Amino acid sequence: MNLIAEVDSLATRPGWWDRLHAALMPDYNRKATAYWWTVVALGAAALLYSLVRVAMLPLESCMQVAVGVAVAMLAGVFPVRIRRSTNSFAAGEVFIFLLLLLHGPAAATLAAGAEALVGSTRTSTRWTSRIASPAMAALAMFAAGSMLSALLEAMQRTGLTNAGLFLVATMLFSLVYFLFNTLLVTAVPRLKRNEPFQPADLLGLFGWVGIAFASSAAVAALLYLTFRQSGSGVVMAVVPIIGLLLATMHYYFRQQDAHDAVRDAAAQTIAREAEVAARHLEELGASERRFHSAFTHASIGMALLSFEGRVLQANAALRTLFGVDDASLRQHCFQDFVIEDDLGALTTQLAQVSERSFESFGLELRCRHSDGSLVWVAANCSFFSEPGSTSPCLILQAQDISARRQAEADLHQLAFHDSLTGLPNRRRFRELLADAVRRAEVDTRQRFAVMFLDFDRFKLINDSLGHSAGDDFLVLVSSRIRDSVRPEDVVARLGGDEFAVLITDEHDVIAMAERLLNALRHPFYVAGTEVSTSASIGITSSSIGYYSPEDVLRDADIAMYKAKAAGKARYALFDVGLRAAVTQRMRLEGELRRAVKEDTISVVYQPLFDLGNGTLTGFEALARWSHPEHGRVNPDVFIPIAEETGLIIALTDTVLHRACHQLRAWQLADTESRHLTMHVNIAGKDLAQPGLVARVTHALVESGLASESLTLELTENILMERLETALPTLNELRELGIGLSVDDFGTGYSSLAHLSTLPIDSLKVDRSFVRGLRPHSKEATIVRSIVHLGNSLGKRVIAEGIETPSQFAQLREMGCEGGQGFHLSQPLSANGIELLLARKSHGLPTVAAPLPSRVAPLIH
Ligand code: C2E
Ligand code: CA
Ligand code: CA
Repeated sequence: MNLIAEVDSLATRPGWWDRLHAALMPDYNRKATAYWWTVVALGAAALLYSLVRVAMLPLESCMQVAVGVAVAMLAGVFPVRIRRSTNSFAAGEVFIFLLLLLHGPAAATLAAGAEALVGSTRTSTRWTSRIASPAMAALAMFAAGSMLSALLEAMQRTGLTNAGLFLVATMLFSLVYFLFNTLLVTAVPRLKRNEPFQPADLLGLFGWVGIAFASSAAVAALLYLTFRQSGSGVVMAVVPIIGLLLATMHYYFRQQDAHDAVRDAAAQTIAREAEVAARHLEELGASERRFHSAFTHASIGMALLSFEGRVLQANAALRTLFGVDDASLRQHCFQDFVIEDDLGALTTQLAQVSERSFESFGLELRCRHSDGSLVWVAANCSFFSEPGSTSPCLILQAQDISARRQAEADLHQLAFHDSLTGLPNRRRFRELLADAVRRAEVDTRQRFAVMFLDFDRFKLINDSLGHSAGDDFLVLVSSRIRDSVRPEDVVARLGGDEFAVLITDEHDVIAMAERLLNALRHPFYVAGTEVSTSASIGITSSSIGYYSPEDVLRDADIAMYKAKAAGKARYALFDVGLRAAVTQRMRLEGELRRAVKEDTISVVYQPLFDLGNGTLTGFEALARWSHPEHGRVNPDVFIPIAEETGLIIALTDTVLHRACHQLRAWQLADTESRHLTMHVNIAGKDLAQPGLVARVTHALVESGLASESLTLELTENILMERLETALPTLNELRELGIGLSVDDFGTGYSSLAHLSTLPIDSLKVDRSFVRGLRPHSKEATIVRSIVHLGNSLGKRVIAEGIETPSQFAQLREMGCEGGQGFHLSQPLSANGIELLLARKSHGLPTVAAPLPSRVAPLIH
């Protein structure tokens, strides 16, 4: 620190004086400080002077002054507060004034100072006030007392000794004293705030205190007069009385103050409570108005209901909801609008809420609008009781949820119904069936049966008449099924042409199936065409013991296949054996797959003859499967499996290649065999595949067989089912020189109209007609007309399944060109055929000695 800074800091360091000032009077400015010190110094001088003067009095007077001072101080401890004013006066004034009159200004000055010291010590904690107050009081008393003494002396001198004047003079003096004192006291805050003196200060303080001072002075004057007349004894007696009186006043006023305070507090509390109550009332009113407005203008229906459901009050939305006016709404119960089916639930819930079992409930109810329409309502009802009310009621909220319900219903319809027929779909049927299965599981008397329907010719209708006709057909069929069952039975469309019926009464199921078959036998009219159809029906029932709806459907499906296999247009009942058959079939499927893959399928050849001249014209290649365990499996069993699994493509190729190679080999071995043809069976799937022409050409090229030596056999059904798509393929094959033959002719869908335009060259009359061949039989007529038809269209007619000489003779007589059958020859292995060919008698030696007996040992 440099020297200059040190000097500066010394100069600015506050001295003891400043510190004292800061501690005692931090809020005093220079003027106020100067004033304070001046007054205190003057007051102290007055007190000192007075003390000296009193000390100079005789001892008795000194004693009197001391007692007077003590009494004044004591009185200062118990000031008498003026009621309803902030001022108080010390009772000691009486004694101070008495001392003034008795012993002069010096005694009064001491007493005033002492009394002020007590008063200021009691009322203030600041030393500035505690010091200044006694100084000011002393100064004021010294000045005013000296003035009075001078006045009284002057009055004495002039002979004015009248007691009344004395009294007035004393009272005036007291007011001067009061004014002096007040002036001195009020100057301090004014100076502190730097404000000029205001006369109002004096006037404001006057009033009661002035009067109290004047009275004190009067009392003191009276006491003084009494003392002058009667001696000090009376004064001595009166002093305690005055003290007592003042004490009583002190306590009386204190008590009054306390009473006032209590009364004021009570009044304030009452006022506050009244204010709070008023505010509450206002808030309640506002809340009521808000509630009423919410109730009236609410967009959902609201009402107050009695426990019986009577409408006590309702809003506009509720009136709109039911389409009624207020008056008629009030005449009704809420239940009157609810439809009967939903009343039960509502009544139960209402009863529970009225018994206070629970506070509220919510229900979705169907209600009746006054225009008769149905309204879905979400109703919420709660218990409602006003505090203190003896009649609680219910608050109802009712919301129109018709749109939501309708949307839900639409969605449900969409998700669970077939859009074409409107019947439940597979998913819905499965659900309902699952319910039935569960019920039957719990209670075996709750039986059910399921029918599975599959139409035998739907695909054909769809392909030949178009999809929209197919749709029309399905709609007609569905309504015919619906009409044939009872209303409580469920009819569903599972997909395509598959329908199912869930029957709740199992006993009726056979009668119902027969009724259905009959109903479906009548032709339908679709797209201006008469269409006849038939369905195969599989039936199963809860007596089998089901645990899942899938099992039920699977078994009904199995039974349906059984019905189809049994010859279509019939029903079949599921039995557990059938399931075993299915399992067996699945096993076969795997084994067949292996057989095709490992090329263990063999081919046999059934000779075809010219029935006119008895010569061999060719062979039909037939697939054979020798199962390692079960031995030979019938083609009627494994061919359908191969068709379903797609194995048929590979199987056809196997047969096609073997047969072509075989015939080519025979042709090469013997020139007489050149004219022989090989018939190979083609399945529906083969025809549906785009590569058929290529596959056939490949077999021909590979074997070197001429296309004219090959004939493909297609069943009438296959041909008709795929007519549109197959025609180009057939034409292509025909152009290559490959022969086409219609197998199982006569069993298929009426196709005579198409026959002339088809690129086919032979018809194979179905075995069933040959079997029934007797003179004048229906079959005989049919075969005869097929032969005629063939002749007129330029197609060869071949009869299959000729088992007896009689059939053979009849067919010859009818002019049927070709034929095959056990009567002529069994299907033979390649070796068997070679033996036949080796005889060089490529024909039927004699009809009397038919081939089968001779070639029987050669049968594979
Ligand atoms: P299909 O094409 O009508 O074949 C003629 C069936 O009649 C053969 O039965 C044959 O053995 C049998 N048969 C011949 N003469 C007589 C007779 O006098 N009486 C009786 N009752 N039946 C006779 P198979 O070989 O059991 O074949 C049955 C069916 O299996 C065939 O009927 C054919 O539809 C199918 N099939 C056989 N092999 C093949 C094949 O390689 N490919 C295809 N796609 N289907 C084949
Ligand atoms: Ca055939
Ligand atoms: Ca046939």
